[in-house]
Amino acid sequence: MELCNINHIKPLLARHGFHFSKSMGQNFLIAPWVPQQIAEGAGLDENTGVLEIGPGIGCLTEQLSKRAGKVLAIELDKGLENVLGETLSEFENIKVIFGDALKLDLKKLAAEEFGTLKPVVCANLPYNVTSPLISAFLEAGCFDSMTIMVQREVARRICSVAGESDYGAFTVYVNWYAETEILFDVSPSCFVPRPKVWSSVIKLRSRKAPPAQVSDEALFFRIVRAAFNQRRKTLANALSAGLPEITKEEILKAMELCGMEEKVRGEVLDIKGFAELTNEISKMMA
Ligand code: SAM
Repeated sequence: MELCNINHIKPLLARHGFHFSKSMGQNFLIAPWVPQQIAEGAGLDENTGVLEIGPGIGCLTEQLSKRAGKVLAIELDKGLENVLGETLSEFENIKVIFGDALKLDLKKLAAEEFGTLKPVVCANLPYNVTSPLISAFLEAGCFDSMTIMVQREVARRICSVAGESDYGAFTVYVNWYAETEILFDVSPSCFVPRPKVWSSVIKLRSRKAPPAQVSDEALFFRIVRAAFNQRRKTLANALSAGLPEITKEEILKAMELCGMEEKVRGEVLDIKGFAELTNEISKMMA
């Protein structure tokens, strides 16, 4: 069966009484080049174990199965159980688990299911839980890379650099854990039902070590969040609102020690800038 052919998909779904759910972010691919190119972009071989979130009817799962040692697919919608039973039955290296990926211990699952295989993530993510899923992948700390399709706006936010309008706390957070790259864009016409916005496939490559040294990682993330919480304020004002335990004068002193101007805004600081500032502020808090 051609899993991206709308003339095959419609009767398949009708046979199993399946209805699309918006709340589960169900937009299925109907352009065969897309799952092929996502799977290619993931750089798989027989030594890789792939975690896929949301196989849908299995069009990407099939492509992953052809390239990887094993595929573990987690699907929230039990209504797809019989569909997937039909579409993926001939592939021996695929295991499908039904459940909410956000409630599972992904690190434990990867260790149990992949053994000596190198764990990676490859998925067309449900758009309504993209950010918590990305956080779960990064914090699991076991995935070598994540090749994922997300809304184009989210892709731009993740892959932007300091000073750009899309740059924000989530950019710094993701780039702390991974190097980020946009692979390609995908038009709404490649899905059923057709979404309103474009999508992009991005690749996150886990870093061996963080891109800067900080004495207190929790403080680093507090400072980043505070800096972007009030984007219109200067960095000094945003931080003095977000860090009540130190004075604005101390914040200005720490900024001066980092060679930052008094009126600078948080959005121009790159990760190294935030790290330097964290280390100065941390000394003042000691
Ligand atoms: N992989 C298919 C494709 O590319 O055509 C479907 C992708 S669709 C964008 C997202 C899929 O994720 C749906 O099958 C949906 O049911 C599933 N899903 C939504 N929330 C989920 C969750 N929390 N855990 C696991 N799967 C989820």
